[in-house]
Amino acid sequence: MKRFNFAVTAVLLTVVIGVVVGCITNPETGRRQFLLVSEGEITALGLSSFEQMKKETPISKDPAANALVQRVGKRISSVVNLPGAQWEFVVFESKEANAFCLPGGKIGIYTGILPITKDDAGLAAVMGHEVAHATLQHGRERVSQGMAVDAFGQGLGAYVDAKNPKWTQAFSQLYGAGTQVGFLLPHSRQQESEADWRGLIYMAKAGYDPEASVAFWERFAAVNKQSGGGGTPSFLRTHPLDEVRIKDLKKRMPEAKAQFQPAK
Ligand SMILES: [Zn+2]
Repeated sequence: MKRFNFAVTAVLLTVVIGVVVGCITNPETGRRQFLLVSEGEITALGLSSFEQMKKETPISKDPAANALVQRVGKRISSVVNLPGAQWEFVVFESKEANAFCLPGGKIGIYTGILPITKDDAGLAAVMGHEVAHATLQHGRERVSQGMAVDAFGQGLGAYVDAKNPKWTQAFSQLYGAGTQVGFLLPHSRQQESEADWRGLIYMAKAGYDPEASVAFWERFAAVNKQSGGGGTPSFLRTHPLDEVRIKDLKKRMPEAKAQFQPAK
């Protein structure tokens, strides 16, 4: 009976501390987010995960692909405010159709996604969306949720330690950035919608036609349909594609176009 009470108290304390310490209103979306790790901690996790990836995954030597990713990356990052960012754009040699931006401004583009992004504007749609996940603190939110679940499992003794090496690995998987794409947790519908909206604004501000985002998702839908949904590309596993996404993008087009600025 006494042990039971202790367990209940521990769980309740975890919840109370988590809610009091963790809930912060995001200034860009106005949505309250559950954040247990600090911005500095999540940036450190992003930087170390990226170093790990560069050691484990071959980097493309294709001059055209590298020039494309540098060109678009520079333009997108120039319109984005990501505190503590050390921008870097790397093309990974892989058949996987995938892309990500880790906190800290580390962007990875897999060669497998380039036939689908097709041109500069298509890649800008992907980069804008991925950078938005970082600026809107979605990685920080997902890691915080993972840590809270972990703390529930182990009681207060294991409560939130961002320096624990296991979080570096879990973090890569949450982002779909690991080489071992065993399990990929999709972003929530709400996070996807926020990243679509913000990403459109970023690409327009960087001088790309935001309509290219709709064309990109439509190409992705066609590729997926062709394969019969079997072997779904990893990008679609972390960024589920449904009709709502394309409909919402179209709805937001006028607002994005109003933010268009010709490239310098
Ligand atoms: Zn996404």
